[in-house]
Amino acid sequence: KVRTRFAPSPTGFIHLGNIRSALYPWAFARSQQGDFILRIEDTDLERSSQAAVDVILEGMAWLGLDPDEGPFYQMQRMDRYKQVLAQMQAQGLVYPCYMSVAELDALRERQMAAKEKPRYDGTWRPEPGKTLPPVPEGVKPVLRFKNPQGGVVAWDDKVKGRIEIRNDELDDLVIARPDGTPTYNFCVVVDDIDMAITHVIRGDDHVNNTPRQINIFRALGQEPPVYAHLPTVLNEQGEKMSKRNGAKPVTQYRDEGYLPDAMVNYLARLGWSHGDDEIFSRAQFLEWFDLDHLGRSAAQFDEAKLRWVNAQHLKAMADEALAPLVAEQLKKRGLVADERLPRICALFKDRCDTTVALADWAAAFYADVNPSAQETAQHVTEAVKPAVAALASALAALPAWDKPAISGALKQVLAAHGLKMPQLAMPVRVLVMGTAQTPSLDAVLELQSRELVIERLQKA
Ligand code: GLU
Repeated sequence: KVRTRFAPSPTGFIHLGNIRSALYPWAFARSQQGDFILRIEDTDLERSSQAAVDVILEGMAWLGLDPDEGPFYQMQRMDRYKQVLAQMQAQGLVYPCYMSVAELDALRERQMAAKEKPRYDGTWRPEPGKTLPPVPEGVKPVLRFKNPQGGVVAWDDKVKGRIEIRNDELDDLVIARPDGTPTYNFCVVVDDIDMAITHVIRGDDHVNNTPRQINIFRALGQEPPVYAHLPTVLNEQGEKMSKRNGAKPVTQYRDEGYLPDAMVNYLARLGWSHGDDEIFSRAQFLEWFDLDHLGRSAAQFDEAKLRWVNAQHLKAMADEALAPLVAEQLKKRGLVADERLPRICALFKDRCDTTVALADWAAAFYADVNPSAQETAQHVTEAVKPAVAALASALAALPAWDKPAISGALKQVLAAHGLKMPQLAMPVRVLVMGTAQTPSLDAVLELQSRELVIERLQKA
C-alpha cells in the first residue's frame, strides 16, 4: 500500500512553495488508494512555534489536504529515537566520538588549507586492530554513524533520475548530540521506517541528505522508500521562495479570497502537468496525478496567473457553494448575509476574481454605499435629480418588486422626463450601488431591498 508523508518544520509560516510539498504526496496517496501522513518536525526548539504549527494545520484543512494519520510530532517520539539509538549501539552500527569542537575546527582548517573537502577523519571510528585514542575525562561524546566505506549509494529519483554518491564522499554522520538527543537525518529515517513510508516526495533541498538517510535505512535492515525531489519554487523576483524574502503564509490566500480548489489547481500546475490542461477540478487532478509528469526545472510563482485561475473556478462554481464563502468574507466586515446571496453571486461573479472582490459587490446589498465625489458629480447632475425623485416615487408605488415591474417604472420615468436609459441608469447605479459600473439595472435593483433603494434615491 502506498504511504506518503508531509513533514514540515514549523520554523516559520509555510508558504505556497512549502504547501506544494504537501499537495503532491497527498494527491499521490489519494490517487493510489494509499495513506497520507502528517509529521511535524519540531525538534528545533529555538525556531519552532505553535503559531507556525497552526498555519500548517489551518492551511492544509483549508486546501482539503487531510491526513489519514497524524499529526505526529517528533518531540513526542524522543523515547523511540533513543530506543533505536541504543539498539544501533548494541549492534555496533554507531560509535562514540570524543573529538572536541576545537579539535574539529582545527581539523577543518588543516583540510581547507590543503584544499580538501572538510570532513570528519574517522579518529574515533573503531576498526579491527586499530587502537583508539585514550578517552578524555569528563567529555560527553557524540554518537557517529558508521557510514559504509567504499562503493556508492544510489537511487532512481522520480524527478531527477539516477543519482549516485560515492560513500567516501560522506563522513560518519553525528546521529546523537552529547546530551543524547538524536539529530535530524536520523529521526527522519526512524520515522519513515515506523510510519512505513513507501514514497518520499519532498523539496530538492534535501537531496544531499538522501544518501545519508539511505545508508541508515540499510544499516537498520530496511529498504529505503522511493524518492521524488521537487525542484524549487521561485518567487516573482526569481529568488527561491522563502519566509525570509516575504513569501505570504498560505492562510493569507484564504483571507484574500482564493478558493481552495483554485489553489489546488494552481499549485498542481506549479511543477506537474497533464498535457495542456490548465483548469481542472480536484477530482480530475486526483485522477490524473502521477509521479512521472513532475517537472524537472524550477517553477516560478505568478500571482496574476493565480488570480486568473481563481477567476475561472469562481465562475464555474455553483452559486449555493460560493455564497457561504462570500458570507464568510462579509462576516469579517460585520455584515450578515441572507438568502439573496447566491443570486447576488450569480449576478456579479463574472466580474470578480476573488471572493473578496465578490464581497465588495455584495456589501452594497448589506451596508451603506459611498459613491466617489467624482462619479457623483459626473452622473448625479441637477438636471437629472427630478427624474431620480420621480423614480423613487414610482418604485414605491409598484405592486410587486421584480424585474418586469422595475423596468416598467424605469421606462415610465424615462418617457415622462424625455431621457434615455443611461441618463437615468447611471445616477441610479451610483446612488444605489456606489458605482456606475454594474450589471443590468433592473437585475441589480430586484435583488436590493426596495426600502434601501428608495432611501438612497431620495438622498439625492
Ligand atoms: N522537515 C523538512 C522540511 O521542512 C522536510 C523533511 C523531509 O521531507 O524529509 O524541509
